[in-house]
Amino acid sequence: IDILRTRPSWIEINLKNVQENAQTIMQYTGAKKLIAVVKANAYGHGAVATVKALYAIGVRDFAVATIAEAALLRQEVAYDDFQILLLGVQDVSFVDIMLAYHLSPAVGNLSWLQEAVKSIPEGKVLDVQLAIDTGMGRMGAHSQSQVTAMYAFIQSSDKLRLRGVFTHFATADDSNQQYYDEQVANFYNWVRGANIPNKYWHLANSGSALWHSKEIDIQTLRVGSVLYGYNPGAPKLKMPIQLKNVLSLKSRIGFVHELGVGESVSYGATYTAEKPQWVATLPIGYADGYLRRMAGMKVLVAGHVEHVIGRITMDQIVISLNKEYPVDTEVTLIGRDGQEEITVEEFAEYADTIPHEISTTFSARLPRIYD
Ligand code: PLP
Repeated sequence: IDILRTRPSWIEINLKNVQENAQTIMQYTGAKKLIAVVKANAYGHGAVATVKALYAIGVRDFAVATIAEAALLRQEVAYDDFQILLLGVQDVSFVDIMLAYHLSPAVGNLSWLQEAVKSIPEGKVLDVQLAIDTGMGRMGAHSQSQVTAMYAFIQSSDKLRLRGVFTHFATADDSNQQYYDEQVANFYNWVRGANIPNKYWHLANSGSALWHSKEIDIQTLRVGSVLYGYNPGAPKLKMPIQLKNVLSLKSRIGFVHELGVGESVSYGATYTAEKPQWVATLPIGYADGYLRRMAGMKVLVAGHVEHVIGRITMDQIVISLNKEYPVDTEVTLIGRDGQEEITVEEFAEYADTIPHEISTTFSARLPRIYD
């Protein structure tokens, strides 16, 4: 039995567009290597499918946030000739798992390295990424002396191998150029001061690749947002390149009825029909990530715009209709239908957030369908 078919609300992911977006950003920046950021289930798009699609066009470096995310890739992706960088802080007691799955942790302090080598067996080598905090304030070496000491320690140990040296920008996707420039200056001063060759460096996130690619050494990109077609600077900054949309959210009408004058819909009876009105119920709600604050949002039915009416409930929403439609009619909540389109950006703006929060919030209850 195909259980997915029993759930007539789903997400469609266009993997060809992910591949195209990767190629577009590489061409635009002139970068040679891509570290594809696929944490949080590839920003909600499906990490295993995304990794396979990017592997097919030659990408061999991926970044995730947690050991569990990395282990899933090692288990589900048949080939293993790709690198996995762990971006988040990891407890040093899990070095054995990192070795077993061949993971490369970001490390931000010398004591972590000193502890790690004690538990690495003879003959084993842990690939590490030296994290430098140039202004993000989350993790990393934060001075010349710390960078120099960590680099020297890695070089001196036969149990550690340097795979990369990186920093993360706090303002690459907004107009605060001065803060960005200070981060770049810190990075260059510290890595050059420690004599770390540029083959190890990776600095550019999506904002940096889009709006600052001429200002930094950009041989390696470490990007997520642009792969999924998102403008990380929206709505303030305009995109310098055209990316393809990747995600659509669809559902099917489950129930149709006509409200009489004065009849209401959903909890709180916040919506009341002023004239007779056809409405439809869709099997999707806030437990799927269709947030409560999306009440009143646009949806597309047969190529025209309708709206969510009344409160969003856990598993169901009600939408307006201009006439009676048959049960099973497809409804587009994000995506294109004829001349009309609802983008993830528009959806996120309505929810007063960024596209990433929207796509990572769609729950596992929504099947992802790939083409
Ligand atoms: N590098 C690090 C350390 C990150 O935490 C992230 C995402 O938050 C990225 C790269 C990718 O950022 P973006 O999606 O803006 O490309």
